[in-house]
Amino acid sequence: MLVKKLKIAIQKSGRLYDDSVKLLKDCGIDLKNGVNKLKTESDNFPMEIYFLRDDDIPQYVEDAVADIGIVGENVLYENKKKVDIVEHLGFGKCRLAVAVGRSEQYDGVGYLQGKKIATTYPNLVRDFLKKNKVEADIHEISGSVEIAPGIGLADAIVDLVSSGSTLFMNGLKEVEPVLQSQAVLIRNKDLDPALQIILDKFLFRIRAVKKARNTKYILLNAPNDKLQVIIGMLPGMKSPTVLPLAEPGWSSVHSVLNENDFWDIIEKLKGAGAQGILVVPIEKMII
Ligand code: ATP
Ligand code: MG
Repeated sequence: MLVKKLKIAIQKSGRLYDDSVKLLKDCGIDLKNGVNKLKTESDNFPMEIYFLRDDDIPQYVEDAVADIGIVGENVLYENKKKVDIVEHLGFGKCRLAVAVGRSEQYDGVGYLQGKKIATTYPNLVRDFLKKNKVEADIHEISGSVEIAPGIGLADAIVDLVSSGSTLFMNGLKEVEPVLQSQAVLIRNKDLDPALQIILDKFLFRIRAVKKARNTKYILLNAPNDKLQVIIGMLPGMKSPTVLPLAEPGWSSVHSVLNENDFWDIIEKLKGAGAQGILVVPIEKMII
């Protein structure tokens, strides 16, 4: 019997490649190391992996050449392809922003009225200008957007920013956010039901991995007379586990913590008398 395989498109090389491959690996999906790096498959999961330019991924998924894909929201919203977003993946975070010359007096979006804006994201810029009721000339270029103001091609640019160092080196400053973006999992709108079952399995694993990445397992020792206070500080999946220590009057407390609250809670626990605090990563989390 021919087993159907779910075809996923991921970036061939670039900023999303490592995290996309790592996500598959953390989901327990092993990839065969093909010599031909256009396509490979998994040994232990019904999945075929296509390596493509990120800009092409939404089109391939719309056309069902691939069933699903991993791509930045920036590329997805710019391309305006008809696909479903099934999951935000929490990596590839960046923002699309307006930048102008460092000595410019920027006093709000009105500054852009009648100006020339260079970008590789003409659709997103058009939407942004329309929303803000500003009229400006959009110059679509295919790369090195940050040099456009310096060579007199534009007054402002709209480009992806993470640290801002590229802007700084080109005498620019970031002045206005246009879009916050991260990698998302997209799906063809008419996915075959047999493939949807595979996708559901994949999604179940992705969610377990995502939860685990944001959570830590914590173990600590507490004197019994402080137990109630310490337990009150810990969230736990249901409630913390408490086990007696060999030493009378002491207990071991186990729980899980959200990465974001982590340092706050640790300080409070120490203050309340907790000792020997251990924090360990969690690989998968199913609740
Ligand atoms: P390709 O060859 O696949 O077309 P690319 O050069 O267009 O690659 P990359 O620079 O590898 O694309 O970025 C891929 C995606 O990574 C971006 O579309 C964006 O979603 C995300 N990203 C995250 N941080 C940044 C950043 N600082 N600059 C640019 N993109 C970023
Ligand atoms: Mg690209």
